[in-house]
Amino acid sequence: MVHELMLNSTQNDSNDSELLPLTPPATVEKRRSDSQTKRSEVKPKKLLTQLRGSNRKSRLKFRPQPFTVLDLNDHLDGLRDDKNADFLRYALRHSRRIVVIAGAGVSVAAGIPDFRSKEGLFSSLKDKNCASGKDLFDYNQVYSSDEMSYKFNGMIANLHRLSQGAQPTAFHSMLDEIASEGRLQRLYTQNIDGLDTRMKHLNTKIPLEKPPPVTIQLHGSVNHVECNMCSKIENFDPSIFRCSSQDVDEAQVVPTCPQCEEFESVRMIAGLRSKGIGKLRPRVVLYNEIHPEGDLIGEIAASDLKKKPDCLIIVGTSLQIPGVKSLCKQLVQAIADRKGIILYMNKELPTKSLIDIIGSIDLIVLGDCQEVSKLF
Ligand SMILES: [Zn+2]
Repeated sequence: MVHELMLNSTQNDSNDSELLPLTPPATVEKRRSDSQTKRSEVKPKKLLTQLRGSNRKSRLKFRPQPFTVLDLNDHLDGLRDDKNADFLRYALRHSRRIVVIAGAGVSVAAGIPDFRSKEGLFSSLKDKNCASGKDLFDYNQVYSSDEMSYKFNGMIANLHRLSQGAQPTAFHSMLDEIASEGRLQRLYTQNIDGLDTRMKHLNTKIPLEKPPPVTIQLHGSVNHVECNMCSKIENFDPSIFRCSSQDVDEAQVVPTCPQCEEFESVRMIAGLRSKGIGKLRPRVVLYNEIHPEGDLIGEIAASDLKKKPDCLIIVGTSLQIPGVKSLCKQLVQAIADRKGIILYMNKELPTKSLIDIIGSIDLIVLGDCQEVSKLF
């Protein structure tokens, strides 16, 4: 009887409310009104639901024990049956807001020397009559004498030449791909070679400004010079920097700024007092100097923490610079609190200096980070 009523009701919409039982039995489907029927037939909405379903982050099924090391050298022929490798793959493919802190290890495969390894810049420069290679990155030392300035200029010119001739590595390409998918929240790079920012999706802004670019160059780059007076930024031109006392051309130890010179000559003609002429120096941040963009980088880092990143990749760096280590510590804390993923990729195991964060690292990936890009 009820069924009959229901069937009848479909033929006479105006009597719907009278014919339907107040609580239909479970076997009876409540009849939908015309407007509801129409809505369920709209296909794009269904499509949207399907799309949302396919975008859903797949669940993390396995997390390595603390202090787990994945040695890439043991898996050069492939990482198929390894839970830790699956975890690494999951982190790279499924994380949605990845923050990367990169160091020199990322660029070694491109032929750019790192700083602290045995073959690194610090030891190779030390051999060339310099107390320590590190002195050539110390503001107090670099401009202390012409001799030191020659060496500094030579080192920057050499790094510039190397980076101009180098190609970004497979790891750079992997980061670029992640960025192209909108999953790279930020790349904090300590590298001054500019190989990363050459990639299409790893752009930066020089000088740094808001809204922040994907890549933040924490220590500047060898590709630019800046005037210490008018702040004019130019491309680095090695020919204007004198690299030895034998240089007899127009190169200078600390070149003067052409823009300041122009302003000065205009002031002279106008009879105005002299304001002085600035000096050009490589736009690289040295030890013992105040970071010119430090406050802005701090603001960007604070806003990155608020955006709830779900994965941190520390790669090719032993985190020896206190400012970078402190940034890393904050990110580790925020990501670990939200059960995100923290990866440490380096040729060497973390040192004692990382004792504060080592317990929060999900996986230590030991070996050449270029091998990781093959996994991806
Ligand atoms: Zn100037």
